[in-house]
Amino acid sequence: MVERAARATDLADLDSAVSDCFACPRLVDWREEVARTRRAAFRDQRYWGRPVPGFGDPDARIAILGLAPAAHGGNRTGRIFTGDRSGDVLFAALHRAGLANQPTSVALDDGLTLRDTRIFAGVRCAPPENKPTPQERDNCAPWLRREVTLIRPTLRVVVALGAFAWAAWWPTLRQVYGLRPPSPRPAFAHGAHWSGTAVPDLLGSYHVSQQNTFTGRLTPGMLDDVFARAKQLAGVD
Ligand code: SF4
Repeated sequence: MVERAARATDLADLDSAVSDCFACPRLVDWREEVARTRRAAFRDQRYWGRPVPGFGDPDARIAILGLAPAAHGGNRTGRIFTGDRSGDVLFAALHRAGLANQPTSVALDDGLTLRDTRIFAGVRCAPPENKPTPQERDNCAPWLRREVTLIRPTLRVVVALGAFAWAAWWPTLRQVYGLRPPSPRPAFAHGAHWSGTAVPDLLGSYHVSQQNTFTGRLTPGMLDDVFARAKQLAGVD
């Protein structure tokens, strides 16, 4: 799997290869079971039920790094943050920021495109209770590493959605850019900002989960501030 990720010559090749990954037995069982049983509201749909590739501009200056696909969102539709409440909040914000051509993301063929932005997750299969194990995180790291390598020429800013994504960035920084992460590691916080020399800036944002958006812990205005800052740092108009 590590070798296959490293061999991916471009994003299309990477997307195709990751979709065929079976490296984590627990997650393979879960993604397929969810796809078989389905949620009542989606009973008539055929679930994707496989790893979910990254999505967006291949020449992105801004990357949004999430945790993992949602069982009935990305694992259903085949596109990250698509078809669930988290995505509703995220894509509305990206649209307000001028980084998405439409405010909704409901299906693979809905016409959504991103400008200067690519979205991917640290773990590419939906995990039970949204909690991948450390082993599953490590198994999946080569896919993240390769994706970052492929967009490295243009990448300027990484927005980490939540503490898991923030933590997943440091090994990627070491492996892709050859830079030893700072010690101690900067703590995750909403609005946290870390910058190094000749590497992408890292911005922290609370995750767009319902737990955060329904409770008001993360508001649309707070997300707007994060993406405005990301655009400024990345030099995106
Ligand atoms: S989580 Fe990542 S490494 Fe594990 S099976 Fe899915 S794509 Fe493969």
